[in-house]
Amino acid sequence: MHLGKDSPIVVTKTQYTAEEFIQKKIELLKDDAEPFFAVDLEDICNKHIKWITLMPRVTPHYAVKCNDDINIIKLLAFLGAGFDCASKGEIKKIIDLGISADRIVYANPCKQSSYIRYAKEVGVETMTFDNEQELMKIKDIYPNAKLVLRIVTDDSNAVCRFSMKFGADINTARKLLEKARQNDLDIVGVSFHCGSGQMTSKAFVDAIQNARTIMNYGMKLGFTMNLLDIGGGFPGNTGTENHFSDIATAVNQALEEHFPNDGSVRVIAEPGRYYVASAYTLATSVIALRDMVDTETGAMKYMYYINDGVYGSFNCVLYDHYVPEPKFLADNQSNEKFTSSIWGPTCDGLDCIHTSIKMPKLNIGDWILWKNMGAYTISAAVEFNGLPFGKPLYFMSKHFWDSVKDAFLPKLKKYQYETQLVRFNINECSNEVEDDMIPWLLEDSAED
Ligand code: PLP
Repeated sequence: MHLGKDSPIVVTKTQYTAEEFIQKKIELLKDDAEPFFAVDLEDICNKHIKWITLMPRVTPHYAVKCNDDINIIKLLAFLGAGFDCASKGEIKKIIDLGISADRIVYANPCKQSSYIRYAKEVGVETMTFDNEQELMKIKDIYPNAKLVLRIVTDDSNAVCRFSMKFGADINTARKLLEKARQNDLDIVGVSFHCGSGQMTSKAFVDAIQNARTIMNYGMKLGFTMNLLDIGGGFPGNTGTENHFSDIATAVNQALEEHFPNDGSVRVIAEPGRYYVASAYTLATSVIALRDMVDTETGAMKYMYYINDGVYGSFNCVLYDHYVPEPKFLADNQSNEKFTSSIWGPTCDGLDCIHTSIKMPKLNIGDWILWKNMGAYTISAAVEFNGLPFGKPLYFMSKHFWDSVKDAFLPKLKKYQYETQLVRFNINECSNEVEDDMIPWLLEDSAED
């Protein structure tokens, strides 16, 4: 399935916030509707601009697993990002879009043999590893691969930790370098991941220092160590801007200290949630409700059933430790709040988004908005019980898109991406427009 393939992109004359965009869409609805995401493409562009401004030495390779929406991939390719792929499926997705293989890092330290063969076939050279068995597997299948040694980090301050599963410690890393040397393999650099949703900049600073130690040892053994991959873990929700700036400052300082900018080492990163978290606002509606009396207090309590749940977009509640915050669109005359629970639409009791939350009284058909829903949501969603999850509906103002095009096209040419440039033509993508969007599009869309 190609997520986002047939979803409309609305080019607007004026700028909209996600909430305004959703309001407008809802006003046009004739009946109850499926859940949908308002995807703010300006937000994605602004994230990229912020990244290259604050960390100009670090080339982002977007972690496709975070949200494999085809239009986001195309937009990021247009802006000049590379891609971190975890599997044959993700590599194929990028290659099929015409993006060249040298913009891909195969960043999964434990890979299926046939996937390594596929990477070789399509020319993806750079791949990570962290153990001897993987090293010897790659020697058999793809001895010319450019290997990146993933080292362990202290990810104790991250929301999602990985170091119990991946990463060589310093002693193991030394042994792996020696083994690779004996087997005539090519180790080109070091990578790490400080854990997704990393709360401290120190984790990055320490890992950069450790990477330097390992790269020094590799150079002593005769490797040309010219790649440092600082992984993902950067925050992406609205309100985390200062935290991101702090990490960027710390990374820049650590690079300056351990990897002075003399052109000998290329620095890349694998940000996922940073790029997409805040751009996606999910709109769900209340499809059913039950009221009851709290036996202890005598107060009214409510159970709300909405049209997306933990098997769909809200799988982040289970897998990503996320506590999504509802925003209510209904005009509530009263400020009174009631103890409530919010449930997904399937027949499963596990399908619960909030077990207990104080909120105003809603009615069937009322809409609930959920911000910061772009990371680790739709990429892991399924249509359990035959129920669809939120489909993307993209928006961007014509004015903003024109300025982005002006800024990025010449730059892409400079970087010689011309031949492999993935054209992201907003109007070309608007190939299928929902009926109820037509009046709005006629009145408000602009020609590209
Ligand atoms: N790189 C690798 C190897 C990962 O496993 C992940 C997340 O699982 C990422 C990058 C993206 O991390 P984040 O979304 O925290 O930036």
